[in-house]
Amino acid sequence: MREVILKRGGEGKVTHACMTGCVIQCSNAFADENGELLAAPVEFETIGLCGSNLEIASLDGIARINRLCNDYGMDTIETGATLGVMMEAAEMEVLPDGIDRDDLPRFGDVESALKALRQVPEGTTIGNLVGGGVVSAGKALGVKHIPAVKGQAMSAYDPRVVKGTAVTYATSPQGADHTAGLTVFFPIDHRDPNLAVKFSRIAQIQRAAYDALDLCAFNTSATGQRPDVVLAMLRKVYNVELPDNYLDILGRKVIDLELAFNRAAGLSAEDDRIPEYFKTNPLTEVVPTVFDVPDAELDGIWAS
Ligand code: SF4
Repeated sequence: MREVILKRGGEGKVTHACMTGCVIQCSNAFADENGELLAAPVEFETIGLCGSNLEIASLDGIARINRLCNDYGMDTIETGATLGVMMEAAEMEVLPDGIDRDDLPRFGDVESALKALRQVPEGTTIGNLVGGGVVSAGKALGVKHIPAVKGQAMSAYDPRVVKGTAVTYATSPQGADHTAGLTVFFPIDHRDPNLAVKFSRIAQIQRAAYDALDLCAFNTSATGQRPDVVLAMLRKVYNVELPDNYLDILGRKVIDLELAFNRAAGLSAEDDRIPEYFKTNPLTEVVPTVFDVPDAELDGIWAS
């Protein structure tokens, strides 16, 4: 991507601050062949869900999907996952009544994905499937594999191999949101089911505190191991006394509020589950592995 952006010049940028004042500047601006802005930024989750998930290898194709999502105010993780289940449906032997196979997007075919996406504002059947999200589209089409928890599509971290993040998908009040508690930064064996709940809990509490303080997720890589630095800034800027475990207290308070909201909305332990096929269909690319953290452990994550 860097090489393409630099070669094309124009409005493309290999690094960019999505918020004024950010010194990390992890963002980018992706320009087309004429140097005109196509999408900013093209992020790694977008590349995962709207790219490899759909067997689309072209950065221009991914950026065009991203651009439409930006224009329509749609999340690229949810949209990529939704297009994925629709592509899976296109390969099924039998389709529900009223669905024409030729109208569905196809794996590896960026034009068919764009055609489906462009129908969202038109309100066609296909447009409504794309706009309704992965669970609604998957159920309507009778697709077996729907990668979501609490109605939210999973990001690109496979729950079978990054089990701590999978526990976050399952138990976060927000559903399958990697930003609610990403565990990949911990130096552990991510396939070990015995470590998953412990590290998901640490990550979720930390992330909830950082979100409440409006600190970008990527800040965590700098300050995650040094919460005392964040605490020192808070004390100095606001001239307040705070206990040394203030970030833990804040994060847990946020999560408890969200859990209370979910309970009032009718969600239960049954909603804190990874879809069954991740427990039965092994990921075989590296070492065969499934999601195997016991339900009882998921249910106990917020018990204390
Ligand atoms: S580090 Fe965070 S605030 Fe800075 S550009 Fe990246 S996403 Fe934006």
